Amino acid sequence: MGVFEAIGTDDHERVVVGHDPATGLRAIIAIYSTDLGPALGGTRLFPYPSEDAALTDVLRLSQAMAYKASAAGLDLGGGKAVVIGDRSVISDDFWHAYGRFVDSLAGAYITAEDVGTTTADMHVIAEETKWVVGRAAEDHGAGDPSPATARGVVRAMQAATLHLYGSDSLSGSRVAVQGVGKVGSALVEYLVDADADVVLADINPAAAAALVDRLGVKEVSTDDILSEECDILSPCSLGGVLNVETIPELRCRAVVGSANNQLATEDDDERIAEAGILYVPDFVANAAGLIHVSAELSVFDADQVSRRISGIYDAVLSILDRASTDNLTPNDAAIRFAEDRIRREGNGVTFRHGEQ
Ligand code: NAD
Repeated sequence: MGVFEAIGTDDHERVVVGHDPATGLRAIIAIYSTDLGPALGGTRLFPYPSEDAALTDVLRLSQAMAYKASAAGLDLGGGKAVVIGDRSVISDDFWHAYGRFVDSLAGAYITAEDVGTTTADMHVIAEETKWVVGRAAEDHGAGDPSPATARGVVRAMQAATLHLYGSDSLSGSRVAVQGVGKVGSALVEYLVDADADVVLADINPAAAAALVDRLGVKEVSTDDILSEECDILSPCSLGGVLNVETIPELRCRAVVGSANNQLATEDDDERIAEAGILYVPDFVANAAGLIHVSAELSVFDADQVSRRISGIYDAVLSILDRASTDNLTPNDAAIRFAEDRIRREGNGVTFRHGEQ
């Protein structure tokens, strides 16, 4: 598959390939949009089976970042980078070469950590470029975004609860959390504080047991969590959990979680709507992590970050209203919500082919 064939009719502004024979660096940076600001998105390190697979992933992820930033009200575009390989190829020289590659884009793209990369990697990359966020707190960064992400998911749950039941209180709501890692564990704490009735599961028994012991929440098996009868199912582990096999098994009223790419395919968007389940798009519910790390771009203002995270509630309500009014799935309504802001407040580059 050629690059232009892969881009197709999408509106990516730039797709740039970085290659450093000395270190074996092979990276692709895709910038979907800089209409609202610089394109911020993490660097994913993954042993892609082919260059096509890496290209497809970076094109899809960079577009999603533009939508996430726009829907969250941030003055940021959307970009993403993929590095082909695994930890065995990594050295400081490797990340230095990558840092120079990021720097060559002169701030059009700002990187951060993502699947396969760490705050320590960002520290090394930052020796070559200033266009890095997501660094550790002791390294002049904003620190781990996971508690912020969890707070944003709670705001999205409150909005979904208002939409479904007419009150946004989570008190007494039964919430099933799949995956209690960095985000899921913080989410469970917030939910217990809000008097929700929490049930959880994790493939790591120690992660689940720690919360059960400390907070008295209930644990079920990882096989049963998706079909747990509840108000809200919260996927906080991997992507693709909403698919042709799992959707008929769900017994929840809404799905609101932090995991990226929860819908396995586009068809699953329709499928979950037809099942009568309210799906809050993941890129809206989990945007607080981006809000948190992007605050590193200026002097970190905790109040402003907090207000923006709170604003996820209003964004979800607007999206759900639009979905009802225009007879759209929430996912389609969220994409239009994001695209509308890019058109309205952006500099007019992204949708240069006219109205879509
Ligand atoms: P994490 O790796 O800390 O936690 C994931 C947890 O899920 C782990 O405890 C793991 O054991 C568990 N898990 C994996 N497979 C499972 C399964 N089949 N059933 C039950 N549990 C399972 O990751 P995280 O940082 O908490 O992120 C969770 C999700 O949220 C990811 O999809 C991530 O991309 C997304 N996300 C995270 C942030 C953030 O700020 N960390 C921001 C936006 C999106």
